[in-house]
Amino acid sequence: MANSKQKTPTAKELKEKLFMQKKNAYLRMTDADIKKCEKFCEGYKEFLDSAKTEREAVGFIERAAKAKGFTEFDKNKTYKPGDKVYRVNREKAVVLAVIGKAPITDGVNLIAAHIDSPRLDMKQNPLYEKDELGYFKTHYYGGIKKYQWTTVPLSLHGVIVKSDLTKITVNIGEDENDPVFCVSDLLPHLASAQMKRTAPEIVKGEELNVLVGSRPFKDDEASEAVKLNLLMILNEKYGITEADFLSAELEAVPAFKARDIGFDRSLVGGYGQDDRVCAYTELMAILELKDPKKTAVAVLTDKEETGSDGNTGLRSAYLKYFIADLASSFGACGRDVLSASRCLSADVNAAFDPTFPDVFEKNNACVLNGGVCVTKFTGSRGKSGTSDASAEFVGEVRELLDRKGVIWQTGELGKVDIGGGGTVAAYIANLNVDTIDVGVPVMSMHAPFEITAKADIYAAYKTFEAFVGE
Ligand code: MN
Ligand code: MN
Repeated sequence: MANSKQKTPTAKELKEKLFMQKKNAYLRMTDADIKKCEKFCEGYKEFLDSAKTEREAVGFIERAAKAKGFTEFDKNKTYKPGDKVYRVNREKAVVLAVIGKAPITDGVNLIAAHIDSPRLDMKQNPLYEKDELGYFKTHYYGGIKKYQWTTVPLSLHGVIVKSDLTKITVNIGEDENDPVFCVSDLLPHLASAQMKRTAPEIVKGEELNVLVGSRPFKDDEASEAVKLNLLMILNEKYGITEADFLSAELEAVPAFKARDIGFDRSLVGGYGQDDRVCAYTELMAILELKDPKKTAVAVLTDKEETGSDGNTGLRSAYLKYFIADLASSFGACGRDVLSASRCLSADVNAAFDPTFPDVFEKNNACVLNGGVCVTKFTGSRGKSGTSDASAEFVGEVRELLDRKGVIWQTGELGKVDIGGGGTVAAYIANLNVDTIDVGVPVMSMHAPFEITAKADIYAAYKTFEAFVGE
């Protein structure tokens, strides 16, 4: 029965009750939260600087996991609650798990992020000399605006497997005393024809040639003396010959370090934040995890940027096999575990950019400092290729984040029919796992220098911490 004395609410009161509240994370965080957030992001920037490729990320993750008491998973061993295990897949992907108190058949709490990022890969026969300059030929990896990758200092990372099968690790251009490499671009004075090309072709794929040297071997008679001198240097440094490039994986990435952006230092700029921002936050959550109820699993995968195919991408069976082996060590069946599991597909989303607002639908775009972004569905043009989380699972995630006081928002990747994108979510959902995309908003995604907000990074960490802590 209505209380006749109750006065009619004002519009302000009613709005507060009925409208969805959107508030900048800084207006919701305490001073103590902001301090913790800033400290967390210092560790994040170190990770960005020391793990620029999937192989380096796996190395970092394995070292960090071992230091926290994780041991290599042995499917013939029996494990008890609190045990921490990991399995590396071909130095390019890794799965970590913390055994929970609940039976494994209750399912696992899974988080998946990717540790590969767009870059320039060297071709198998990369080295050539043209007009007395030395170059590497490249084939770009992932979706890039090619012109962004010129006139940027590049470092070279990867491995060379020699004919005797010894493996050499390459990392050159990161140390301040190292040389760097670069793709040249035309001066504006002479670029009028180039500037008439359409944007995807302003710099063409076969023009992404990395300058690697210019000094000839001192011999007036020799041809290709610059190439010869470069091979001599490489032979002295690594003991390799030209044929050894055939069995090498060399990746050129921006050589600069991650930095704070802004007078207020509220943003992080750096290479490869898609998706190492989710990889790092996920990693920190599982490394700190103690005695969870359910078993927690974190997968850090390769090849997302090229469609997740190949044995180190999430279309491969390696995750399924890991879960099956984990299940069988408890006498259970892998498919029963997967069918009862739930997953946060941890990947970035496109942050609203006020300079380019037209491609975003503002009611459903994520913003910097809006918190972690929960994306119900991905895909493009009629949700093609989507992984679409059920309302029930979205509800579960929403309840968890609200209960734990995590700052979060929702976001779709751009306006309908403008573009779109996918993540690994579909490949995990296809294993009959409840899966939803959750991640950090990124501005200038896939550019050599991507932008994120510290408050969102910290919110992602709090999300993953809450999820695996259930
Ligand atoms: Mn991504
Ligand atoms: Mn990407």
